[in-house]
Amino acid sequence: MAILSEKNITKGLSILQNYTDNKLLTHLNSCVHCGLCAESCMYYLTYKEARFVPAQKVDFIMSVYKRYFTFLGKHVPFLSKARDLNDESSSEMVDLFFGACTLCGRCTMHCSIGVDIAFLVRTGRVMLAEMGMIPASIQSTVDASIQTGNNMGITKEEFVDTIQWLEDDLKDELEDPEARIPLNEKGKKILYTLNPREPKFFPLSISAMAKIFHFAKESWTLSTEMYDVTNYGFFTGNIGEATTITKRLHEEVKNLEAKELILAECGHGSRAFRWEGPNYLNQSFEYTARTSVELIADYLKEGRIRVDKNRLKQRVTLHDPCNLVRNGGIINEQRYILHQIANDFVEMTPYGVDNFCCGGGGGQLAMSEYNERRMGIGGRKADQIKDTKANIVVTPCHNCVDQLIQINAHYKLNVQIKTLAEVVADALI
Ligand code: SF4
Ligand code: SF4
Repeated sequence: MAILSEKNITKGLSILQNYTDNKLLTHLNSCVHCGLCAESCMYYLTYKEARFVPAQKVDFIMSVYKRYFTFLGKHVPFLSKARDLNDESSSEMVDLFFGACTLCGRCTMHCSIGVDIAFLVRTGRVMLAEMGMIPASIQSTVDASIQTGNNMGITKEEFVDTIQWLEDDLKDELEDPEARIPLNEKGKKILYTLNPREPKFFPLSISAMAKIFHFAKESWTLSTEMYDVTNYGFFTGNIGEATTITKRLHEEVKNLEAKELILAECGHGSRAFRWEGPNYLNQSFEYTARTSVELIADYLKEGRIRVDKNRLKQRVTLHDPCNLVRNGGIINEQRYILHQIANDFVEMTPYGVDNFCCGGGGGQLAMSEYNERRMGIGGRKADQIKDTKANIVVTPCHNCVDQLIQINAHYKLNVQIKTLAEVVADALI
């Protein structure tokens, strides 16, 4: 029985029909089938299935485009490898674009002629969103954000309780009754954000950043109304919902009259707000928006915080989150920080813009139906970590932390996984 209505097929095709610039067609038409992108993708490297080759994902969209928007495709589809958009092909699209791509962008970087494969996969997701085919698992994360203000549905009371006990602990740890985790204070220089995983599962990473702010004598606040840095609408392809989430944080910066928004350690959240946000909102920000990685690096460079390099005795390596590094260009700041606090810092191979995704990007962690596949592709990251012989893996992204914790258990790596703020807070003097 057909589940995809004609109306939804038309809505999906409208994304291919109503493009607003030449980017879509240029990239769809450019692939020369050299095959160089195959070896850049963890899915193909792990499973060796031809349909996982990045270029095959491009071809998939192209075949649908041909079927409906080219003369040959319309009249002799079998001659031009044109494909109908129907129940079968749309299910394959879900599996390929949601279940077999983290949007890491490594294939794009390796493409011999610069085809933006990750952009085309995202276009496929936008089509599926229009067709009402976003997987329910990841959609529930977006629904929670829109309904409650955070993707984990944490109530305001729960959040305030957590922050209050963290503040009490901070006063005790620092033996300073003036130590604070301010909430909803207007006119502070910085509005700081959190990944909801922090208040829910990893509250000590909030304390770590609060400690850094305290040592830097920063003017800052959190908001109880909108603190969530994540934006899963960016992953689902529902641009309206991605815009709603972006707008809420944007409005809160203005409401609290902050001069700067500091995005917590979250690769996709930083990208969705800082780089995609002005497009969603159709305006530029009237305040500065930057990441806590850049802020901490500046604190160290300006001498606003000082650290003891000898406190961290173990070997440290760094995992580069795709959205922050390859797709966001924040490459050197985290390395500068780690060189200040660790005597034994080693890079993975490859690293930086060429690093492999942890396997949890693109919303994979929110889609439990792909858990087994996600752990499979995580094997490449596990091998990278093992090769460094490091005891601690630092990554400036809570999403990557989650995937790395699971990789650590699954592949028995026996390492510690930490955020940047956590290792810096431990080194403060
Ligand atoms: S973006 Fe990453 S996961 Fe997706 S096809 Fe390219 S290399 Fe593979
Ligand atoms: S590397 Fe680029 S041009 Fe070559 S097959 Fe892949 S997408 Fe096509």
